[in-house]
Amino acid sequence: MKYYSTNKKVSGVSLEDAVIKGLAEDKGLFMPDHITEIPAMFYENIDKLSFQDMAYTAAYMLFGEDVHANMLRTMVYDTLNFDVPLVRLEENIYSLELFHGPTLAFKDVGGRFMSRMLSYFIQRQNENHKLVNVLVATSGDTGSAVANGFLGVEGIHVYVLYPKGLVSPIQECQFTTLGQNITAIEVDGTFDDCQALVKSAFMDEALNAGMKLTSANSINVARFLPQAFYYFYAYAQLKKISEAAAHNMVVCVPSGNFGNLTAGLFAKRMGLPIKRFIAANNRNDIFLEYLKTGEFTPRSSVSTIANAMDVGDPSNFARILDLYSNSHEAICTEISGVSYTDEQIAETMKTCKKETGYLLDPHGACGFQALKDMLQPGETGVFLETAHPAKFLETVEEILGEKIEIPEKLQEFMKGEKKSEPMSKKFEDFRAYLLANDPPTPKGELREL
Ligand SMILES: *Cc1c(COP(=O)(O)O)cnc(C)c1O
Repeated sequence: MKYYSTNKKVSGVSLEDAVIKGLAEDKGLFMPDHITEIPAMFYENIDKLSFQDMAYTAAYMLFGEDVHANMLRTMVYDTLNFDVPLVRLEENIYSLELFHGPTLAFKDVGGRFMSRMLSYFIQRQNENHKLVNVLVATSGDTGSAVANGFLGVEGIHVYVLYPKGLVSPIQECQFTTLGQNITAIEVDGTFDDCQALVKSAFMDEALNAGMKLTSANSINVARFLPQAFYYFYAYAQLKKISEAAAHNMVVCVPSGNFGNLTAGLFAKRMGLPIKRFIAANNRNDIFLEYLKTGEFTPRSSVSTIANAMDVGDPSNFARILDLYSNSHEAICTEISGVSYTDEQIAETMKTCKKETGYLLDPHGACGFQALKDMLQPGETGVFLETAHPAKFLETVEEILGEKIEIPEKLQEFMKGEKKSEPMSKKFEDFRAYLLANDPPTPKGELREL
């Protein structure tokens, strides 16, 4: 499979190069040049397959030409070793819990899968074993998922850039306490500033001449595409409950950078019968505005209690436009949008807890409310519960007025010592830091993963 850039000045790129580069040279995002539909038989029997087996079929369609089958199988099985339950909250509304992985957020799948794929490709390409530096900007959950996915992987150093004071303390400890090949960088700015620093680093000739840089944000195809697996599993589980419900499945995706939703669009193009999508936003509703007006106007993000969605310039919008050949009308027929204020999110969390006993996190709350507000008769809604509520402990406890339990996995992180490098939001400072800190090239063989 060859990849082209959404800016159309680059094409014919191998998966290997697309993953190692992250972003195309023309600053566009890589897209596969075709999407193969999986034969109907697969969907007829999907409810009889394990999550790993169905994901492998999807992975094979996406990556099978470029990754050795055994290796690809290992990547999939090694990544999807946790449960993704579908929980019924109302007659026709389900929560797909994507938070049972190592860092309790849906990004664990992309983080781990990408670390395995990148490691595989650099061993193949990198004869002199030059250290690869992964730069990742985070509004909270990406940093922890990527850092934990890459922890201890030889030949790769990860820099996590996060906005000072704008991620929850529990999120912060998941990437600042790891040490080894993970460096946390605390940027005096917003998430958008962090993302801008990363993008500037990729475009900087002097930096790229000296060091190998790549991105583990959802701009990287190996990060965002594996998220498509979740949608197949949602459908399969719903089909087990009711064929009719599965055929009228609407998926609601709490969205920030729109990597997760874009992965869902790929699943649909691969033949998965998703009726339509709803993008749920917090007050950062640039996408909703686009749906309403046809104009896409990025602006600075504002901080909300659903902080992983505080994105003012969603990078995967370029992929959505590309998938629909820039047709606003076509996009509007398959995706609708909605946005909620902090007060509305809090109200949803309280009401849901009271009426169903279910604990929503602030992001999932946007998804649940969107289905309540927008589901049409005959449709069945599945919202992606993107993170465990305990990741936003202070917020959730304050809203609900009660203590919530912290899963053991999270408590482990909280025991570590926080270490991070303070950084201004000026690119010159970040560049100087990287140049001064490029760790020495590792010696010897890279460890097989
Ligand atoms: C990252 C994240 C989102 C947004 O996902 P995108 O792929 O960036 O749209 C939503 N909720 C949580 C908890 C997240 O961590």
